[in-house]
Amino acid sequence: MSEQTRYILNENDLPRYWYNILADMPVPLSPPLHPATGQPLTPDALSALFPMELILQEVSQERYIEIPEPVREAYKLYRPTPLIRARRLEKVLDTPAHIYYKYEGVSPSGSHKTNTALAQAFYNKVAGTHALTTETGAGQWGSALAMACRFFDLDLEVYMVKVSYQQKPYRRFLMETYGAQVFASPTDRTQAGRAILATNPDHPGSLGIAISEAVEVAATSGGKKKYSLGSVLNHVILHQTVIGEEALKQMDLAGEYPDMVIGCIGGGSNFSGIAFPFLRENLRNGQRTRLIAVEPTAAPSLTRGIYAYDFGDTAGMTPLMKMYTLGHSFTPPAIHAGGLRYHGMAPTLCALYDAGYIEAVAVPQRSVFEAAVLFTCTEGILPAPESAHAIRVAIDEALKAKEAGEKRVILFNLSGHGHFDLSAYNAYNNGQLEDLALPEEEIAAIPSRLPQISQSQVA
Ligand SMILES: *Cc1c(COP(=O)(O)O)cnc(C)c1O
Repeated sequence: MSEQTRYILNENDLPRYWYNILADMPVPLSPPLHPATGQPLTPDALSALFPMELILQEVSQERYIEIPEPVREAYKLYRPTPLIRARRLEKVLDTPAHIYYKYEGVSPSGSHKTNTALAQAFYNKVAGTHALTTETGAGQWGSALAMACRFFDLDLEVYMVKVSYQQKPYRRFLMETYGAQVFASPTDRTQAGRAILATNPDHPGSLGIAISEAVEVAATSGGKKKYSLGSVLNHVILHQTVIGEEALKQMDLAGEYPDMVIGCIGGGSNFSGIAFPFLRENLRNGQRTRLIAVEPTAAPSLTRGIYAYDFGDTAGMTPLMKMYTLGHSFTPPAIHAGGLRYHGMAPTLCALYDAGYIEAVAVPQRSVFEAAVLFTCTEGILPAPESAHAIRVAIDEALKAKEAGEKRVILFNLSGHGHFDLSAYNAYNNGQLEDLALPEEEIAAIPSRLPQISQSQVA
């Protein structure tokens, strides 16, 4: 039997449809609420921020939504992405498990974020939008959207979390090369930013604050600018399902079916993108794949957070969403996986986790880098610190399979490469990384960080 390593699809196999989990939700989803009134949000209320087509996708109950041809054309620059059997890693672990990974780091900006960036830029362009605003943590989302805005001829303002702006200047240079304007958040350009700076001029920033700034700029632009979010929302997760749809075909080429699908979670988009098509097979076609979401112990939204209505941003400008949250004013420890430092999580993913359709596990930073280095030294690809959370758990599961003496088929999403994260690897290599688990006092204080409307629910 030949030992195939890469499972490659043709351009013709590029999916024609995204998969919408809302059509198959086995549990009801609590509606988003208006931030001022606490009443269920009308699609109209979102129109200051998003073009109508994306708002319709946000609430659509259609199972499949067609990928527009200009978006498919742009996807062809890097899709279908490869599915790779980690044979060299399997050998080193001496495990009977078969480990597969879907590699999204081949996208031009280096992560899965390009999948939704291209779609969002396209829908904004056809709606007549001239400029977008957004936030970025580590810079992957900002650089994906910067490229997409250049492709579809839109201006872009990026509010970048200050600690990342300082730690990761190369991501900023990439965004600027694509033509975006990048600001270190909190800035003095917005009320939300000025309020934070007044209490602490050296505030390191957070995704929640950067979202407040980007939302404020779009909401007060008199319709000239729209806002774009890189994760969490239903339409973003919809766009990411292209990952799982391809992976289903590729596992078929490999003649196997995964016993488990693993992904890291920041806002939940890359995990949901690979996992939801497999969840559909569980729900509709009797498969029994385990779906495992991995988060850092420094920002453990699913495993330690509270399931309650909370704001998506720090200033309380976004709609209230029911999600597992650490509290919207939470500033997570400065771990190197910047993309996983968010207080909340995608509402669909949260509802599915709450109902037991998805598992979650939290892992500390040093064990993540240990896994990342082992992966780099066996498979050759240096993973993004975010993606390495999924590798950690894939390795742990492969070792459990070895202990049990069972062949288990493991699929994980390698959401991006880590070529802009080499200073984090340098810190790890020199023994300078800490685990930075969230202190118990911080966990105990979550209820006090929730908005009034949630207090009654958690009391
Ligand atoms: C942004 C990012 C993440 C986390 O965001 P999700 O929406 O949870 O996917 C994970 N991996 C990489 C490489 C990222 O850029």
